[in-house]
Amino acid sequence: MQSSSRRRGAASALLLLAAAVQVLPAAGFMTTVPTALSALRPPRHAAVRMRSALRSRRGRSASLGGALASRCEAWRGDEDVVIVGAGMAGMACALELKERGIPFTVVEAAQEPGGRVRTDEVDGFLLDHGFQIFLTSYPEAQRLLDYKQLDLQPFYAGADVRFAGAFHRVADPFRAPVDALLSLLPSHPIGSVYDKILIGVLRLQSLVGSIDELYARPDVSIGERLSKDVLFGTAFSPEMVDRFFRPFLGGIFFDNKLRTNAHELDFVFRMLALGENCLPKKGIRAVSDYMASLLPPGSLRLSTPVASIAKDGSSVKLSNGETLKAAAVVVATDGSSARRLLSGVADLGPEAEVKQTTCLYFAIDGDAPSQEPILYLNGDGVEDAEGTTKVNNMCFPSTVSASYAPAGQSLASVSLIGIPAQTDEEVAADVKKQLAEWFGPSVNEWRLLRTYRIPYCQPNQETPSSREKAVECAPYVYVAGDHRETASLQGALRSGTRCGQAVSAALSPMLLQRSRGVVEEFAKSKGIDIAVPAFEPEKTEA
Ligand SMILES: Cc1cc2nc3c(=O)[nH]c(=O)nc-3n(C[C@H](O)[C@H](O)[C@H](O)COP(=O)(O)OP(=O)(O)OC[C@H]3O[C@@H](n4cnc5c(N)ncnc54)[C@H](O)[C@@H]3O)c2cc1C
Repeated sequence: MQSSSRRRGAASALLLLAAAVQVLPAAGFMTTVPTALSALRPPRHAAVRMRSALRSRRGRSASLGGALASRCEAWRGDEDVVIVGAGMAGMACALELKERGIPFTVVEAAQEPGGRVRTDEVDGFLLDHGFQIFLTSYPEAQRLLDYKQLDLQPFYAGADVRFAGAFHRVADPFRAPVDALLSLLPSHPIGSVYDKILIGVLRLQSLVGSIDELYARPDVSIGERLSKDVLFGTAFSPEMVDRFFRPFLGGIFFDNKLRTNAHELDFVFRMLALGENCLPKKGIRAVSDYMASLLPPGSLRLSTPVASIAKDGSSVKLSNGETLKAAAVVVATDGSSARRLLSGVADLGPEAEVKQTTCLYFAIDGDAPSQEPILYLNGDGVEDAEGTTKVNNMCFPSTVSASYAPAGQSLASVSLIGIPAQTDEEVAADVKKQLAEWFGPSVNEWRLLRTYRIPYCQPNQETPSSREKAVECAPYVYVAGDHRETASLQGALRSGTRCGQAVSAALSPMLLQRSRGVVEEFAKSKGIDIAVPAFEPEKTEA
């Protein structure tokens, strides 16, 4: 009885609000009511997801229902959702809330948005904060970004592997079939013919089933999968694993020990098969700049580190002592910072060893040694690198997009796994010595522009794998970031979107309350005698 009258109440409030939308624009309520209504609307793309999110909330305890009810009473309707962190996850969450008309503020510690997706301009060179590749097939990126604006410039679909004093090409058989055929010659030392067939098998396997099904496959490490069982108990030769997969996947997961879970291998192979690997013309920051450009004016506060958050998500305390009231709080930082900010609120579990990298950029006068937009891999291995620095992978970004270097110069980008103990100068000297063997003595003329030591490059993705980790920590406290999904642009964006959906599901009843107040106020100002039925959030039993 009670619940059906509540439903009727909610329905009439909705009808009333719908009618009000016809009237209110003329009275200057253009923004508030349609905004509130859009929050009540199921998401454009995900009506089903929203329904299931609401269904799952219904199964929650009575205490959560109680918390919601008291919050509805207390909410004055002028508090924003506060999102901590303007990386890809925080901005994706913000855009999801924007679409649903839920007001928010993003507070970011750094001077610019983007988190790990940033680019510096140094002497006319574009230096990404660590070598990053944009894969056009990321589903969430396709949904959120405008690829035309990013002006994506593709890499060659393959790599040159440096092994035993020479380069050997490994190519995508579908995009570069001639090079792929040449790699089948017996003189090609990067794997046997059977290894090349197995690469095709791996690619096909990655395309079978949905992405969810990929993640439901046996939870083993990449190393185990590649060296024990790819097809009917057969596997890649140790030479293929050491000379190709270690540097190739080492460059993607910053893990040349291949301990990352094999689901990520399937996912990356699927993305590589379905799209291109690119650099945006103006650097990787074009991706985060585009996201930031979609945020409403005034919704992003830069240089604003958050010191702590209230356990009930009602406020955040900034490092400058200021307190921001909040309708809910989303912690969209890297995994280590999230653990710190959420300690005492939620247990995100112990943090396994995070992945680290070092990236060096060199200026080259004139042309790069090669004009091909290709990735170079160290097939000789980095394991004997005791005391010296070994390159894992490198490329010349200016051959992919000329805007990475000023006219008449070229740019070299060199990636190492981990952070060496030596000084920048010592590391640069080691790297140049190694690359002089690859490209000749002209490397000695290269000028070090900058060294990026990145202590938190990616969260740990070793087994056991768990892709869609929960985004709700406690009532009105949420967490987003690549550590909740997969360590990639796709993972960060997807976790932000999921978080925005969860926040919206929790706040919709409050927005309904807020809209009710707006309608009543308007009616009163016009002398209309109207009683808008109250909406009470459904209380659920334990
Ligand atoms: C070198 C490198 C190479 C990579 N290569 C690729 C690649 O080729 N392809 C790919 O898909 N992905 C790649 N990635 C991974 C990808 O960049 C990340 O997965 C993604 O950017 C993570 O986004 P995020 O929003 O989860 O976290 P972050 O980008 O870390 O954003 C978190 C934000 O929170 C802010 N913050 C932290 N603490 C606070 C606080 N107390 N108060 C306020 N703000 C705070 C930070 O300043 C930051 O802006 C690479 C990453 C690196 C570093």
